[in-house]
Amino acid sequence: MQMIIIMKENASAKQIEAVESKLGEFGFQTHPIYGEKKTIIGAIGDKRALSMNQVLMMEGVDNVVPIMRPYKLAGKELQKEPTVIHVKGVTIGGDNLAVFAGPCAIESQEQFTGVARAVQAAGANILRGGAFKPRSSPYSFAGLEDEGLKIMANAGKELNMPICTEVLDTREVELVAEYADIMQIGARNMQNFKLLREVGKYNKPILLKRGLSSTIEEWLMAAEYIMSEGNEQVILCERGIRTYETSTRNTFDVSAIPVVKELSHLPIIGDPSHAAGTSKYVPAIAKSAIAAGADGLMIEVHNCPEKAMSDGEQSLRPSEFSQLMSELAPIAGAVGKKL
Ligand code: PEP
Ligand code: MN
Repeated sequence: MQMIIIMKENASAKQIEAVESKLGEFGFQTHPIYGEKKTIIGAIGDKRALSMNQVLMMEGVDNVVPIMRPYKLAGKELQKEPTVIHVKGVTIGGDNLAVFAGPCAIESQEQFTGVARAVQAAGANILRGGAFKPRSSPYSFAGLEDEGLKIMANAGKELNMPICTEVLDTREVELVAEYADIMQIGARNMQNFKLLREVGKYNKPILLKRGLSSTIEEWLMAAEYIMSEGNEQVILCERGIRTYETSTRNTFDVSAIPVVKELSHLPIIGDPSHAAGTSKYVPAIAKSAIAAGADGLMIEVHNCPEKAMSDGEQSLRPSEFSQLMSELAPIAGAVGKKL
C-alpha cells in the first residue's frame, strides 16, 4: 500500500518529523518531498498496520491520498489478466459465456429436474436454484433446505452440470458446500462480512451478487473479504440496484459491467431476472449485459411460472429461455464470446 501525505502549508519541521516517525514505527518507508510552500510525504508499507485516518488526524496533516485501490486482490494492480474459473468442465471468464439457469426455488425433484433438462437442452451450462431462500416476508416459502440441496445434486449428477445455490448463514456453509459446486452470496448478504469470510475459507467458486444499494467499490470490497481468506474464485453478479424508478423491480446497472471490467480481473455476469422483476423485460436486459461485455448470465426459468413458489413473475418458460439463447448467439459472436 502506498499513500501520499500532504502536509498543511504551515506545517512545522517537527510535525513533518512526527508523521515520518509514526509511519516508520509501523514499518512504512517514507519519502518526503520538500516544496517551497508544502511538503508531501510518499509512504510505502502495509496499510493494515496503520489506517489512513490515524495519519489524517495528526497535527499538520492536510490530506492523505491512497495510491493503491483498497481492493488489492480483487483489483488489477496485482493481476492484470482476467481470472478464468473452471468448475466441472465449465469455464467462467475469458471468451466463454457461462449461463446459469433454473428456478428461483427448488420445489420438488420433478420440478427441478424438468427445468434442468430443458435449460441444458437450450444451452445453459450451470444449474441454479434456491434451497435456502432469503424472502422479504417471514411468511413466504423459505426453501426446502437440506432436501432442496439433495434434489439439486441429483439433477446435477444426472445431467453432468455444476450446481449453484445460495448460502444464507455462516452456520449453513458447511452443509451447502457439501452439495454445491458454486456457492451464491445473495444481494442481501453482500456485506455480511462474517459470511464472506466463511465462504472465503473454501476452495469453491463463489457467486457474489451486488447488494441492493451497493456501490461498485463496496461490492469489490466484499469480493476482497472472500479473497483475503484465500479463496480467489469469485464471480461477480450484477442483479440490479435500488433507484427511484419503479417500472422494474430494480434498475439493471449495465454500466457496472464495463466499470468492473476496468477495475477488476474477476469475471462478471448479469442477472436480468432479479433486475426486471417481470419476465417480459428479461430478454432485452440479458442481451444488453452480453453486449456490454459480461461473462455470462443468471436467468430464472420455471416450467409453470404461474405456480412458482417464488419469483414466478420474473421467470421465463423453457420455450422463452430457448428462444432467448438463440437470440443471444449473434450478440455473443459480435463481442467475441462463445455461447
Ligand atoms: C436469487 O438468486 O434467487 C436471489 C434471491 O437473488 P438476489 O440475492 O439477487 O435477490
Ligand atoms: Mn429469485
